[in-house]
Amino acid sequence: MSDFVMTIGGDTVPAAESFGVINPANGEVFAHAPDCTREQLDAAFDAASKAQRDWKTDEGLRRATLLKMADVLLASGTELAPILTAEQGKPLGDANIEVFAAAIWCQYFANLETPAQVIQDDAEARVEVVRRPVGVVAAITPWNFPLTLAFWKIAPALLAGNTLVLKPSPFTPLSTLKTVELLRDVIPPGVVNVVSGGDELGAWMTGHPVPRKVSFTGSIETGKKVALSAAPDLKRVTLELGGNDPAIVLDDADPAVVGKAIFAGAFNNNGQVCSAIKRVYVPESLYDQVVEVLADQATRIKVGEGTEPDSKLGPINNAPQFERVKELVGDALSHGASAATGGKAMDRPGYFFEPTILTDLTDGTRIVDEEQFGPALPVISYRDIDDVVERANATHFGLSGSVWGTDSDRAAGIANQLECGTAWVNTHLALSPQQPFGGFKWSGVGVENGPWGLAEFTEVQAVYRSKSADGLNLNTGGLVS
Ligand code: NAD
Repeated sequence: MSDFVMTIGGDTVPAAESFGVINPANGEVFAHAPDCTREQLDAAFDAASKAQRDWKTDEGLRRATLLKMADVLLASGTELAPILTAEQGKPLGDANIEVFAAAIWCQYFANLETPAQVIQDDAEARVEVVRRPVGVVAAITPWNFPLTLAFWKIAPALLAGNTLVLKPSPFTPLSTLKTVELLRDVIPPGVVNVVSGGDELGAWMTGHPVPRKVSFTGSIETGKKVALSAAPDLKRVTLELGGNDPAIVLDDADPAVVGKAIFAGAFNNNGQVCSAIKRVYVPESLYDQVVEVLADQATRIKVGEGTEPDSKLGPINNAPQFERVKELVGDALSHGASAATGGKAMDRPGYFFEPTILTDLTDGTRIVDEEQFGPALPVISYRDIDDVVERANATHFGLSGSVWGTDSDRAAGIANQLECGTAWVNTHLALSPQQPFGGFKWSGVGVENGPWGLAEFTEVQAVYRSKSADGLNLNTGGLVS
C-alpha cells in the first residue's frame, strides 16, 4: 500500500502497486507512492472530460475557485513543506517558498483580466476575437520545483476553462499528491486529477486520446519524445525544457558585487534550476577576482539536510543526477580544469556534492557545453566581447542569460544580443507570474505565465455576427448572388 493517494474525479484513489520514494539526504526509501494503472489513467481523463463541460461555462466559479485554492495553499505550508523537503532535498525555508509561490500563482490568474477583442463593429458586422479552452490538459512536471511548476500549469489552465490530469516526477510525487488531496474540498470533482507513476505513465498520457493539450516541463530529451507522441493527434504542446544559461561579466563590473550575485543565480536550489547560471564568462582582467569571490561563497555556504535550520543547500535530488554531476566534474578535471573549491561528492550518506567552482577550462568541455543541473559552475575567461556573445549563443540551448556591468545601458545592449527567452541585466532568476517564461531553440516551445502563458491554454475563436438583413456577407461580392 502507498502512504499517499491519487485524486481522480474528486475521490481518493489508492493503487494496488506502489513505488518507493527516496529521501536524497540519506538515500533511503521513506514513503511509497501509488503506481497508476492504465485503467486509472483512463478514469482520470474521463473524469476531467466530464468535469470540463460545466467548468468551462462558469468563469466566476473558476476565479473564485482559484482564490480558494490560494487560501488553502497559504494555510498548508507546515504540512506540505516537510514532505517536499523529504522527497526533494531542498531546505525547509525554500520548500515553504514553493508552497507560497503556488498560492501567488493562483491569485494572479484568479485576477487576470481576459477581455474579448472587438476587431470590427460597423454596419456590416461585429467581429469579436475570443479565447476558448482547449479541453483536457495533460500536465507533466519535473523534480526540481514540483509544486511551483505544477501551479504554473494548473492556475492558467483552470482560468482558461480547462480541466487537468497532472503527473509529478517519480522522484518527487508526494508533495503534489498531498497538495491536490488538500485542495479537493475547494475544487469541483474531476477538475484537477493527479496520478503518479514512472516515466511510462507520462508516455501513456501524451499518447492518450482524451487530452487536447500537453503542458510539459522537463529535459530536452523527454521534451522531444513528448512532441513526437503528441504530433499524430495534433495535440497542442507547451514544452519548458533544459537550459545552459550563460552569465557574461563585463570589464566594468565590480567583482565583489557580481561574484556574490552570480553565485546566488547559479547555486539556487543547489544548481537544479532550469534557468540557473550554468557557465560564467569573465574578462581576463577580472578573472582571478571573480573566481575568488565565487569560491569564497561556495566554501562558506552551509550544505546539509533540508531539515537542519541553517542549511542553505541540500543534496542533489536523485542518484542519476548525482552520478551525472560527478561525471561532468570528473570529466572537466581530467581534461585540465582546476577546482578553485569543491570538485567531489561529500563523504556522507545521501547525494551531497561539494559546491564546486571550476577554472582553467573553456567551451568544448562537457560541463561548459552541456546542462550540468547541479552545484558545479565553470568559469571561463575571455578577451573579446563580440566573440563571447557568439560563444554564449553557439548552442542548441536558449532558455535565459544575463549580462553584468556597472554601465547598465551597455550591459543591456549586450543582453539584447542573447538568443534566449529571458535576458537579465545585473540580476538572474528574477521571475514573476506576469512575466512570460520560455525557451528559444531546444529550450522549449511556447511560454508560461502572464497573458501569454494563459493564451497557450486556449484556442482562438472569431465570432462573426452579421448585421445585414439577409445574412449575406457584403464582402463576398460576386461570389454569392
Ligand atoms: P525528465 O524529462 O526526466 O522528466 C520530466 C517529467 O517527464 C517527469 O514527470 C517524467 O516522469 C516525465 N517523463 C519521462 N519520460 C516521459 C515520456 N516519454 N513521456 C512523457 N513524460 C515523460 O526531466 P527531469 O530530470 O525530471 O527534470 C530536469 C530537467 O527539467 C532539466 O533539464 C531542467 O532544465 C528541466 N526543467 C525545465 C524547466 C523550464 O521551465 N524550462 C523547469 C524545470 C526543469
